[in-house]
Amino acid sequence: MHIHKHILSWINDFFFLIYPEQCEACGNSLIKGENILCTNCLIDMPYTDYPLWDDNPVAQIFWGRQEIEMATALFYFNKGSRYRKLLHKLKYKHKPEIGVFLGRELGVSIKGSEYFAKVEGIVPVPLHSSRIKTRGYNQSERIAKGLSEVTGWKIYNNLILRTKATETQTKKSKEERWKNVSGKFALNNPDIAKGKHLILVDDVVTTGATLEACAAELLKIEELKLYIGVLAKA
Ligand SMILES: [Zn+2]
Repeated sequence: MHIHKHILSWINDFFFLIYPEQCEACGNSLIKGENILCTNCLIDMPYTDYPLWDDNPVAQIFWGRQEIEMATALFYFNKGSRYRKLLHKLKYKHKPEIGVFLGRELGVSIKGSEYFAKVEGIVPVPLHSSRIKTRGYNQSERIAKGLSEVTGWKIYNNLILRTKATETQTKKSKEERWKNVSGKFALNNPDIAKGKHLILVDDVVTTGATLEACAAELLKIEELKLYIGVLAKA
């Protein structure tokens, strides 16, 4: 048993020498002990300090739209930023591990924030089953997994369902995005979440249309308090 483990570790090191993994942001080879991002990219990551102020730019997106207790993004990116690649690979290049990794980072960033002190559960923004089939996973569930590992919060995977597949939002205006997503979510067994403080998680916030549509459904649950946490603000 011991020897077996030893050999496996040796084989692992050997392959790492020949095929080193690459930093998902800059493409440089990772050294042993690094995971997903190289140390430089991890240090240079454009983290927000949004968990510390409740009128931050992500929270403001939802003002006058849905009653959200608090909202945050782990980092922000501009066009051409190497950090934008992380989200692209998470969604389109079959890299679910990026979601778990950044979900943990999101957890670290909000764990000490007084504004999130009452949160007790996580709701990943659902994907339609047809989309899960082609992608292989729901990226928001991967983020929820990482977030839960750091915070211990329970994940509510089936509390809200996406009842209709939606077209991609990327080329749409704010109004078109809202029309595209509103009414396409439905609650499932909502009684289990009565009175709970839950955080809705997604990979990125742009106009907030998807999160708003989800929030509109979730806030039909009696006494539910809703928070929002995303990896990035575009
Ligand atoms: Zn890097």
